[in-house]
Amino acid sequence: MIADVAFDLPLRRSFSYIVPPGMSLARGQRVSAPLQGRQRVGLVVDLREADTAGLKPVQRAVESAPILSGAALAFGRWAAAESLSSLGSTLLSLLPPPPRPGSAEPVAPAAEPRGGAAPPPELWIGAEREAELAARLSRESGPALVIAPDRESAARWANRLDAARLDSGAPDAERRAAWFAASRGRARVVVGTRSALLVPLPPPATLALLDEHDLAHKPPGAPRLHSRELLVERARLEGSRLLLLSATPSTETWWRADSGQISRPAPEVGPWPEVITADTRGILRNHPLTLPLTRAIEDLTRAGRQVALIVTRGAAALGCDECGVLFRCPDCGVALALGRASKTLGCRFCARTEPMPDTCPGCGGHRLSPFGWDPDRVQASVLKRFPRLRVSRDLRSAQVLIGTAALLRGLPAGSVGCVGFIALDGLLRLPDFRAGERAWQSLWAAAEAVGAGGRVVVQTLHPDHYAVEAARTQDRDVFYTHELRFRAELGYPPFRRLCVVSVRGKAEKPARALIDECAGAVRGIGGLTVYPPAALGAPGARSSRWRFVIKGPAELPRLIAPALAPFLERGRRSAGVVEVEMDPVA
Ligand SMILES: [Zn+2]
Ligand SMILES: [Zn+2]
Repeated sequence: MIADVAFDLPLRRSFSYIVPPGMSLARGQRVSAPLQGRQRVGLVVDLREADTAGLKPVQRAVESAPILSGAALAFGRWAAAESLSSLGSTLLSLLPPPPRPGSAEPVAPAAEPRGGAAPPPELWIGAEREAELAARLSRESGPALVIAPDRESAARWANRLDAARLDSGAPDAERRAAWFAASRGRARVVVGTRSALLVPLPPPATLALLDEHDLAHKPPGAPRLHSRELLVERARLEGSRLLLLSATPSTETWWRADSGQISRPAPEVGPWPEVITADTRGILRNHPLTLPLTRAIEDLTRAGRQVALIVTRGAAALGCDECGVLFRCPDCGVALALGRASKTLGCRFCARTEPMPDTCPGCGGHRLSPFGWDPDRVQASVLKRFPRLRVSRDLRSAQVLIGTAALLRGLPAGSVGCVGFIALDGLLRLPDFRAGERAWQSLWAAAEAVGAGGRVVVQTLHPDHYAVEAARTQDRDVFYTHELRFRAELGYPPFRRLCVVSVRGKAEKPARALIDECAGAVRGIGGLTVYPPAALGAPGARSSRWRFVIKGPAELPRLIAPALAPFLERGRRSAGVVEVEMDPVA
């Protein structure tokens, strides 16, 4: 008997080993086997009778039962093909760490789903979405998996639901125990981050994704797909129910709900604060606080409420501080990224570069800057104006809390009296087509954190931006209607799919030649737009990095896979390492 074993390597192929007499193995089981002179942990993806001549034996089984079901292996094949990654890297990134040899931890064979038609995924956007999820999971009796964007949130939810944890914040043995308990139906509700996406659950299972819009659901590295896409496919294959939770879903998900692929129950409307815009055009800003924000800090702290001030560091794009004009690529619509060393503006899509301008084409002004406020400077200014207030960047008990937009994540609804955006423009100026969506999500999160009776003050050079208008009027349609029009006009997701191909090499010339070769391989494939390669990183850096963007239809992975496969399997000694990132988020 031969076992085909997949390893965490950038290779599409698996490796064959002899199953020694007396050892019984199953598909989906982890084994330790010799590879390149040492023992490595891999996953049995196939078992078959064939000639064993020249093959080495499997050293040992890591667990006595398969950790993945047959359905999970099939799912892994789909995910690997969809992201042009190796099956081994995809599946092994979704398993808890292996136990030490000889461990006597209890295991159980992976539960197989029943299959059958799945109900359409549901998108929960209402103010009570999280309370409703907690209530539903405690009311029902079926197994459930809750995926959180980060470990802190996973810990909070595990506590709230009295559930076992599967994320890397829990000790390894606890993660393994939770995995096998869930598979046997012994741990009914489990909580994890994306590393728990494959935990086998006996049917009928409920899958839930918290903060669907969060970028943390698609970090770099395997599995190279967004947790939402992985869960949508898993639910479809298993016939499971999927719940997506977010007050401000990604534009892609909103569009799917518009087109009926996802059901979107009418949301309950939550309490809303007054949203005030402070127009900073034409104001010489040597102070971070405008009058409306100064007043809000005064009024709300006097009323015993906490104030959060949101700063953005200098954005990577250039704009005019007098009229608000932002330098954008005329073809791609995204902000041009500022190359400080080369004194140029560059488009991250089409690689267009322009010299840095001296004056604003809109108003002729000379104050062009990558807009942002240093948190230290904001803190000093606030303290100078309000010497008696406790102002802090990390103390949750401070009267005035200063932080980046990430601060809004951890604030419960209605917990602060005021959120002030020192300059929303830092978010709007990200050189990313999702800049508007990012700003919108921060504005809505701020309004939810404040609730009725409080104030959100938005200092901006773009008071008419539809993200601001939508947050002011608590009207999601205003945002998504505009955003979908922008995406459609310029061919961004959900209307076209994107893919980034990159090369990292030691020397510039061979790396450049390799990226040109990759681009040449996909040019000419029907239905694709292939942009020219551009250098990444500063000149003189230790490694040479290049990349290009491909735009294409929904079947983009299948169109480019045959052309790019030979480059993805090259050894590390070649001119560089080629990576493909489907549906990049940043
Ligand atoms: Zn201007
Ligand atoms: Zn461009």
